[in-house]
Parts: sequence; C-alpha cells; structure tokens
Amino acid sequence: MCGIVAYVGHHDAFPILIKGLQRLEYRGYDSAGVAMLSNGEINLYKKKGKVSDLLEFTKDKDVTGNIGIGHTRWATHGPPNDVNAHPHFSENKKLAIIHNGIIENYASLKAELIKRGHHFESETDTEVLIHLIEDIQEKTGKDLFEAVRIALGEVIGAYAIVILSKDDPHTLIAAKKSSPMVIGIGEDDFYIASDATPIIEYTKNVVYLEDEEIARIDLKDGLKLKTIKNEKIEPYIQELELQLEAIEKGGYDHFMLKEIYEQPRSVQDCMRGRLNIRKGTVALGGIKDYENKILNANRIIIVACGTSWHAGLVGEYLFEDLARIPVEVEYASEFRYRNPIINENDVVIAISQSGETADTIAALELAKSKGATILGVCNVVGSTISRITDAGVYTHAGPEIGVASTKAFTAQVTVLCLMALRLGHLKGVINESDFHRLLIELSSVPEKIENVLENAEYIKEVSAKYKDVSNFLYLGRGYNFPVALEGALKLKEISYIHAEGYPAAEMKHGPIALIDEDMPVIVIATKKGNYEKVVSNIQEVKARNGKVIAIVTKGDETVKKMADYVIEIPEIVEPWSPLLTVIPLQLVSYYIAVMRGCNVDQPRNLAKSVTVE
Ligand code: GLU
Repeated sequence: MCGIVAYVGHHDAFPILIKGLQRLEYRGYDSAGVAMLSNGEINLYKKKGKVSDLLEFTKDKDVTGNIGIGHTRWATHGPPNDVNAHPHFSENKKLAIIHNGIIENYASLKAELIKRGHHFESETDTEVLIHLIEDIQEKTGKDLFEAVRIALGEVIGAYAIVILSKDDPHTLIAAKKSSPMVIGIGEDDFYIASDATPIIEYTKNVVYLEDEEIARIDLKDGLKLKTIKNEKIEPYIQELELQLEAIEKGGYDHFMLKEIYEQPRSVQDCMRGRLNIRKGTVALGGIKDYENKILNANRIIIVACGTSWHAGLVGEYLFEDLARIPVEVEYASEFRYRNPIINENDVVIAISQSGETADTIAALELAKSKGATILGVCNVVGSTISRITDAGVYTHAGPEIGVASTKAFTAQVTVLCLMALRLGHLKGVINESDFHRLLIELSSVPEKIENVLENAEYIKEVSAKYKDVSNFLYLGRGYNFPVALEGALKLKEISYIHAEGYPAAEMKHGPIALIDEDMPVIVIATKKGNYEKVVSNIQEVKARNGKVIAIVTKGDETVKKMADYVIEIPEIVEPWSPLLTVIPLQLVSYYIAVMRGCNVDQPRNLAKSVTVE
C-alpha cells in the first residue's frame, strides 16, 4: 500500500517523482505529496486526492531541485487530507519523511515526544517517527544515518521510509521492514521506489532492500548499507527483467481491461517451460526438491487474502481431487492469530500476487517457526514471500496494475492446476491416460479464454441490463463455488454493488429469502460439475421470479430455456473450468463499473498490495 518515490542526481527531480507516483498510484491514492530540496530549503507540497490534484496544486510553485521525495498515501492513521498527506516534517523542519506502513507503538512514542516539547501537525504515525529521529539526533549528536538506525530499533511495526535532510543536498536515507523498497542505480544518480515500475525507464540495475536494512544513498559516496543492528552489508545489484510496455495501458481504456485481455497470454506464460505436450510432462523447477515433502505431508494449508484466497479455495478442490492430499484454506489474517496447530509434517502454501501481503507474510513466518515447510505462489519476482519461503512457483503473469485482480487470479489457479496435476501423477492417483487428457486440456485453456473474450460485446449488453441494481447473487458448486465468490468480490470492489457468492445448494439456507424480480443471480452451470443439481437451483430462483444469468457450456439447450441470459464458455474438463468461468464474471464487473461511472483501476478505499495488517 502507498507508493514511495525518491530521486537524487543531476536531473530535475520533480518530473521523475510525479511520473513515478503516477506509476505507483495503484498502490494507494487518497493523497499525494512531494518534498523538494533546492537552494538550501525544503519545499513541501501535499494534497488530498490523486497525483493529478497534486500536479495542479504545484503548477505555480517552486519545484526545482535535483533531490526530492514523493508519496501517494493509503491512510491508516488519520483521514486522507492535506495535513495527513506525506511527506512530514520534523520539529525543526530540517528533515522530511515519507513512509509506507504502520508504526504500531506511535502513541507511546508520541506522548513521550510531546513531553519533550515536540508539536505535531498531523494525526499520522509517520510524523512521530521523524520527530523521534530528530530527537535522537539532538540528544546523541550522531549523524542522520545513525539517528535513523537507533530510532528504528525503538519502533514496532512496518515501514519503508525515505528521509530528506535540509543539511545534506546529496544524500537520502532509506530503510525498510515488512514493506517493499527498491533502489535503482543510474549512471550518476539514484532512484528509490516501492516497486521497480518508476525506475525501469531510467536504469535496470537495482538493489532490493531487505528487512531491517538501512541505506545511505549519496551522490559522491554511492550506496552504503547497514542493518539496524549495525552490521555492514554489501549491496547485491540485480538486473531488472521488467519491460516498460508491460506497465503501460497499451491502448486499453483501463488497466483492468488490458489485464483481462492479457489472460490468454499470461496463462500461457505461466505454463511455458512447465507443461510439455510433446514430452507429456509437467515440471515445476521451483518446488522440485519439495515434491516428496508435499506428497508425504499430513496436509497442505493454503494461506492467502482476498482474490488469492479464492484461488486457494480452487486449489483445495484441485489437490484433494487430483492428488488426494488433504487441504485447508485459511484467511492469513485469521490463521496468524488463532494459535493454529501446525508441525513439521505440514506444508503451508502462501498465495499472493505482490508477495508483499502483510498478513500472508506473518502467517508464513508463524508456520515456519512451528517447523512447517513453507512455499510461495507469487507474481512479483524477488518479493518478500518469494525470498522467505523454502521454495515456490512464480505465476509469471506480468505486472498487474489494476487494483481488482484478474490475470493474477487465473495465473495463480494455473499454477495450482499444474501442481495438482504433477503431484497427482507422481502419486499415481492420476493414471497415464487421464494425465495426458488433462495435460492436453490444460494446454487448450489460453485459446479457450480467447473464445470467451470474443463474446465480450454480448457480455457487455447483458451487463447493461443490470447496471442499476443494488444487489447481486453469485452461485456455483464444486470447483466453481470459489469462482462465484470471486465474481461477487470483483463486482463489489469496482462497481460498489453489494454482491454475495454462495455455494448454489446453500441458497436454500438463507439467501433465497432475498430473491425477487429485482435480484439478478449469476449461476455457474457448466456441464459436469453437479450440472443437474445446479439446474434445480436455477429452477428455484426462477420460481421466485429472480433473474438468472447463467454461465453455461457451449451448446447447452436446457439452461437456455430457463435462464434470462446465458453466456457460453467452451467445453473443458471440470478441474480446469474455473480458468474459463471466471472470465465472463470479470467482464460483467468491469462493464457494470464503467457504466456506473466508477473509477475501475482505482476503486475507492482499496489498494493493490495490502502491506499493512
Ligand atoms: N501509516 C501512514 C499513514 O497513515 C502511512 C500509510 C501508507 O502506507 O500510505 O499516513
């Protein structure tokens, strides 16, 4: 959550900061601000709203300078307004800070600092941190780097911070714990950001800061790293693989639409080098050494949040059905606080697009401390989860910018399909002929997603009929129950329509009371997956005058006669069907949100990667 950008070099810093903040705006966007150092003065500009509001505000201001810091906020402490927006000054206004995360013990620190004569302008936890650093600097007479190091030893919580000092026009101090931070090393300049997207067009050489590391970034002395325990670290410079085109809209109105349409390719990319039809093999290099461990595990526990949790639920059906391994799927936030029973015979798989989801990371750490094997399924290469896990599988979906996840979900499910197929085959649960059939069917998914997307105009027409309703119900069974949950979540997230996903048979136990002629019900009624049962559920809705939009297998005539609208998907074996059934649901939520005038890529109150608990 929240975007951080900083620059020190010989170019004008302001345009670099603004462009970087716009790239990061998907991470948090309730307010934005910059601090620029020029002619020995720090100029601080901040504004509630988007980066474009900040840009408008700074039109006639002095934004000169070759060093500066910028921030887009996702408020945790204090409402989004001009005052709470970052950067924040220290008491003497010589230091300015930007921060991503939460300082959990800010209240006690603040009380202490107030006693010592400090005044606070904002309600944020962040302002407390910069006052603490200043206080330590004054008390101890140490330089800024040391003062930051000592201060960070006193704070509890999560942070990625960058500090600009009026007394040092060539230096930035940065540090991180549980929030991501990347440092780009240019020819004669430096870039700092929450992820690599603001950096990519300037340099490919980057250093990912590790937890509890502090960086001194100095134009003359270069990059120096230490841990907060005062150990020296040699910076490990990596080359970025990200391409600039991958983070731009490429002619689509919204990132979300672009990402929906990218799915034939992203699913293909996810399978590339792993699924080999010619040889008839599935190989997952990332977890190769752990396959026996998984096969002999007591159970697999999948931990995740939001859309990734839905992917995890599909994983439960896959692993139990195809590999006969018991699975539990947990909300990471609940798992970590309920004293779960885990031991060294358990395998815990974390699913997270960003690989930075705070609750998921904490759940993994808990599982690790109890001796479990921990694996990751992430999209962002080099992310925290990919680094702290024993092993894992990247989804290779490419950068996902739209806040409502689409291609990350299908890529996560694809990874889980590959894992279940591989493990089921190894274990002998899937025989050779079924294995080959499943392999071929899985390889056909990208083309079949393409077929579903060809239906987009019709899906748009159907969506238009229901754009003004206040409630939606999504029903599915078996493999497609998690898809119903995901469809409902997508609609809530971007169109602000209340929606609920239910296992179709559960409808009778409550939600059926809601059904009347104003209630659209999206039912996933593909062939095979308890088809007859779902058909009965459709009858129950129709008997109460509900409106049914059914997702059906191509050529289905039975449901066509009952439903108000049917959206067809190509025929596919049941375990892989979520990869197709979710596509129309993504499109329905997208079109309805656009028709309602909602900001699809930046829905209110949401942020892309939830790096706070
Ligand atoms: N906790 C800080 C605040 O509320 C930082 C939030 C963020 O990560 O944007 O201002």
